[in-house]
Amino acid sequence: MLGRSPVPAATARLPFSHPLLACWGGRLPTVYNPLMLGFVAAAGLATLAAAGYNTMAPRSQLFGRTFTGIEPESRQLALTFDDGPNDPWTQRLLEVLNRHQVRATFFLIGRYVAQRPEIAQQIAAAGHVVGNHTWDHPNLIFVRPAEVERQIQRCAQALQQAVGPHSTLFRPPFGGRTPQALRAVRRCGLQPVLWSISGRDWEAKSAAYIENKIVRGMEGGEVILLHDGGHRSLGADRSFTVTAVDHLIARCHEQGFNFVTVPQMMPAA
Ligand SMILES: [Zn+2]
Repeated sequence: MLGRSPVPAATARLPFSHPLLACWGGRLPTVYNPLMLGFVAAAGLATLAAAGYNTMAPRSQLFGRTFTGIEPESRQLALTFDDGPNDPWTQRLLEVLNRHQVRATFFLIGRYVAQRPEIAQQIAAAGHVVGNHTWDHPNLIFVRPAEVERQIQRCAQALQQAVGPHSTLFRPPFGGRTPQALRAVRRCGLQPVLWSISGRDWEAKSAAYIENKIVRGMEGGEVILLHDGGHRSLGADRSFTVTAVDHLIARCHEQGFNFVTVPQMMPAA
């Protein structure tokens, strides 16, 4: 027992764990409790809040480098569409993009690609960039690195079969990631892409709602998150998104913005 302090007789078991507590074996001397408990509780809550924020916040770089856009002076905008392919809204969107001569970036769900390979082919044939959005859209915060790699590889196989060679871009479902998940993404040779503006089209009651969400904070250089599908099943109604994109492109063109794909926007490595 020499050199080791005995555990105080009067101790309190804390209702949560924190790195600060490790040196006490999860126990604090009772005498310090009134002061220390408040401090440790605050530190614990701050750590939990920061971890939650950084695992989901699209622009946070704390858990690993991700692409979210470039400087406003560029006047460039990158439209990105997640959770397709999705009949008929992906095709409607392709018509709108074609009418405006705009190229966008689509992050496709592997299991939908396997069911609707012809729509994935139409996206690629129209000159849009196709990226990986996992096989069936798990939140990577809760997924082990080996499963992250399996999700990516299954989606990549479906994309390869449907459209052949495609981009090395990856978007984590829900924007959820951890340092371990991002390392798994890079081990697969992919570059994680998040976003800087969301149209929040999954909660929209109108096309105007989506358009307003986007233009409100827009300066230029943004990666814009929208959806041509829904992660729960095929057939999600994205009519508001299609209408919003039609208006948004016309409005942004008038204001001198230029729509590009994510690879066009990304700085050369
Ligand atoms: Zn998604």
